[in-house]
Amino acid sequence: MTISGTTDPIAAIATAPGKGGIGVVRISGPNLDGLAAALFDTPLKARHAHYLPFNDSQGQPIDAGIVLYFKGPHSYTGEDVLELQGHGGPAVLRRVLQHCIEAGRPWGVRHAQPGEFTQRAFLNDRLDLAQAEAVADLIDASSEAAARSAMASLSGAFSKAVSELNERIIHLRMLVEATLDFPEEEIDFLEKYQAKPTLDGIIADLAAIRRDARQGMILREGLHVVLAGRPNVGKSSLLNALAGDDVAIVTAIAGTTRDRVIQQIHIDGVPIHIVDTAGLRETDDEVERIGIARTWAEIERADVVIHLQDARDATDELEVQIAQRLPVRTPILTVVNKVDLIDATAGADTSEEDTLYISAKTGHNLDQLRRRLLDIAGWSPGAQSPWLARERHLRALEEAGEHLNRAREHAEHDDQVLDLFAEELRLAHEALGAITGQFTSDDLLGEIFSSFCIGK
Ligand code: GDP
Ligand code: ZN
Repeated sequence: MTISGTTDPIAAIATAPGKGGIGVVRISGPNLDGLAAALFDTPLKARHAHYLPFNDSQGQPIDAGIVLYFKGPHSYTGEDVLELQGHGGPAVLRRVLQHCIEAGRPWGVRHAQPGEFTQRAFLNDRLDLAQAEAVADLIDASSEAAARSAMASLSGAFSKAVSELNERIIHLRMLVEATLDFPEEEIDFLEKYQAKPTLDGIIADLAAIRRDARQGMILREGLHVVLAGRPNVGKSSLLNALAGDDVAIVTAIAGTTRDRVIQQIHIDGVPIHIVDTAGLRETDDEVERIGIARTWAEIERADVVIHLQDARDATDELEVQIAQRLPVRTPILTVVNKVDLIDATAGADTSEEDTLYISAKTGHNLDQLRRRLLDIAGWSPGAQSPWLARERHLRALEEAGEHLNRAREHAEHDDQVLDLFAEELRLAHEALGAITGQFTSDDLLGEIFSSFCIGK
């Protein structure tokens, strides 16, 4: 998909597939007056609700409903937008859409690509890139906390924080660059404009934005947890116990031997994707061996591995072997289950650093386990997440931080380095500008918008 592209009118069903009370067909284009006249006998008044029949080319009614007309630039896309709100059935909506495309042939109306409405909103400056991404994130939000933060991003809270920071960098850049034209002033530039304290202030505020963005990213991405352990230690029981009343989404991906079950639960609004795996043990059974190989593959991809053990044989040789094979760079939570079966005092000590004693059956210490998972995710409970962020944003913030730190070092080692100082500021400015889409390649834009749904 190319970005700096076309302005053909586009049309799509904007509501979710399936049946619904109402369904919406949306059309956007530079000028839809002609199309509106072709579709409806009544002249449409901008921003007025008209109740009208939606007729086919023979004048036969397909449906009837509300028509809204937004004249650009006062619309979602910044272009003219027509919205036909009819009954929300897939067949009737397809017919309405098809008719709009046929009637729109003289104006080149075509089917919209994924995210193309929002892409136009971005290209027409109705939204910046971080806000456009928040549109998708709001729709995809899997918890109320995530939805709240996505809405904050959509309203521009994140963009505003980033832009304000960038303004300060731009100001400093202007001062340096003006000075570069007068080399005799270079020597005392840093003093004269208090460049070092100014830069320190910017660096500190960037760090704060990064902390919030990290919270926002956790809220968006969640944590991938793999439950690993021998057969019968209670992996599936623990998964069920953690899921509790949560509206769990179970995805069963059929495999060759055994289904892989990912269940999404929420802790504190943070999505936790838990993978239940085939039990690990020595076996001659070929089918089981394949399952075990897949378990190890899951373990390699995990953010966190819960190494689950049975309290009755937690210390034996096989557990040691499993522990030794777990990847060193992945956080491992050693969890001993079924403490209800052993003497409550023998090993139910929860103060032990890296081992947690639980019972999936009685629920003992499950709250501790939940807290431990949030901890590993880097989530600070109670801390607000003022906006939702993506990994891309976090990388840009990190990159900007590195350039500012380097600028700071140049400032420390004083003279003759003002051009290096200026260059680092420029790079920091560009990194931050990528977040809001000021400096972004067409490839990246294509990637972002093509991951949207059609009609968005
Ligand atoms: P998996 O093979 O690791 O998934 O283990 P399951 O979850 O299928 O559990 C194996 C058996 O252990 C079942 O009979 C469970 O009811 C039992 N079990 C699981 N957790 C506990 C626990 O905390 N206490 C007790 N007493 N039994 C448990
Ligand atoms: Zn199981």
